[in-house]
Amino acid sequence: MPESYDYLIVGAGFAGSVLAERLAEGSGKTCLMVDRREHIAGNAYDRTDEAGILIHAYGPHYFRTNSDKVVDYLSRFTKWHHVTYQVLVWTGGKYWQFPINLNTFEEYLGRASSTEEMEATLAKWRVPISQPKNSEEMVLSQVGREFYEMFFRNYTTKQWRRDPSQLDAAVCGRIPVRTDRDNRFVTEKFQALPQDGYTAMFERILKHPRITLRLKTDYREARAQVKYRHLIYTGMIDEFYDFTEGRLPYRSMRFEAETFQREFFQPAMQVNYPNDFDYTRVVEIKHATGQKSPVTTIVREYPEDFGPGKEAYYPIPAPDTKVLYQKYAERAEREKQVTFVGRLATYRYYNMDQVVAMALTEYDKLRTAV
Ligand SMILES: Cc1cc2nc3c(=O)[nH]c(=O)nc-3n(C[C@H](O)[C@H](O)[C@H](O)COP(=O)(O)OP(=O)(O)OC[C@H]3O[C@@H](n4cnc5c(N)ncnc54)[C@H](O)[C@@H]3O)c2cc1C
Repeated sequence: MPESYDYLIVGAGFAGSVLAERLAEGSGKTCLMVDRREHIAGNAYDRTDEAGILIHAYGPHYFRTNSDKVVDYLSRFTKWHHVTYQVLVWTGGKYWQFPINLNTFEEYLGRASSTEEMEATLAKWRVPISQPKNSEEMVLSQVGREFYEMFFRNYTTKQWRRDPSQLDAAVCGRIPVRTDRDNRFVTEKFQALPQDGYTAMFERILKHPRITLRLKTDYREARAQVKYRHLIYTGMIDEFYDFTEGRLPYRSMRFEAETFQREFFQPAMQVNYPNDFDYTRVVEIKHATGQKSPVTTIVREYPEDFGPGKEAYYPIPAPDTKVLYQKYAERAEREKQVTFVGRLATYRYYNMDQVVAMALTEYDKLRTAV
């Protein structure tokens, strides 16, 4: 007799793990969770490196949210280390405050200024576009060409290998522009990292007698071996359908870590390099985790095309990709025994809190449907 479960859950990231916990604890269901990687936590996975520094293995994960529901839920599994995320840009041989604000404007002018002067200047610089259709138009309509060229154009092209004019307005529109001195990277009311790291939090989420976890196991392998009543799928939706409608494009990334025998390498947690080098950013997560150590590790991020042997990190938000995704979404909608949830299965550029909220909503649907 093959093993039998109520749910087969593909992917041990936020989407799959939250659903596994809710179904096991909240509804008494048995879940087999598989992930083809050798660890849990999906892209939020963090680990201690050889130098003893906690690093985010797949790029920095800055948890932030305005949702009390999401914080309450995750707080069952972790305490929090509150932090204000800070990002700088390196260009023209110096550091700049980022996102653009009055401090950035003063650095540009090389003298003291005021909100009034910045607003008046931006009003002159802005390109009048009432409804920006893409990321280039979005930035031009917010700050004009000078800052677009300095901070956005090359960074975005390096990151996505597409000109900003070929990307949804929301890609660059996510980054705020301020005329006060607020240097914070993001403004959500809750900004914190799990105190012992993401992986430790996921271990607690998944520690349940009704959850069976199998790592280094692909969905196809598991599907052939066990019986289940319902499938929860958090992988790439085009892969699920054997790419029959065509391949959805993704961006991949190479992460290169380096350890230095000094307390800090750079003045902030993240430095963006829009106009120099092949990497987009250098992250020294120790600034955010608050870890005390005389040594430090940084991670450089090199955007790469997605292909065989590479991880799909980012769906590409653009009009042409939306059309292709829609074909898969229509097929997915007709599935009765499969739930598609998470960043790759819905081909959306979601943050962690949005994925947790999405998983909690899916749980409510499953709970009431069965
Ligand atoms: C570089 C980077 C930086 C980010 N920074 C932030 C940030 O600062 N703040 C923020 O809120 N969000 C950030 N995110 C987004 C965050 O990673 C996602 O919102 C979140 O991880 C999505 O969770 P998920 O469960 O949908 O997907 P994932 O974490 O991708 O998990 C999916 C899992 O499914 C597994 N899988 C896929 N297919 C199969 C298969 N066929 N068989 C078995 N297993 C399979 C994968 O191995 C993976 O572990 C970032 C993402 C990236 C890539």
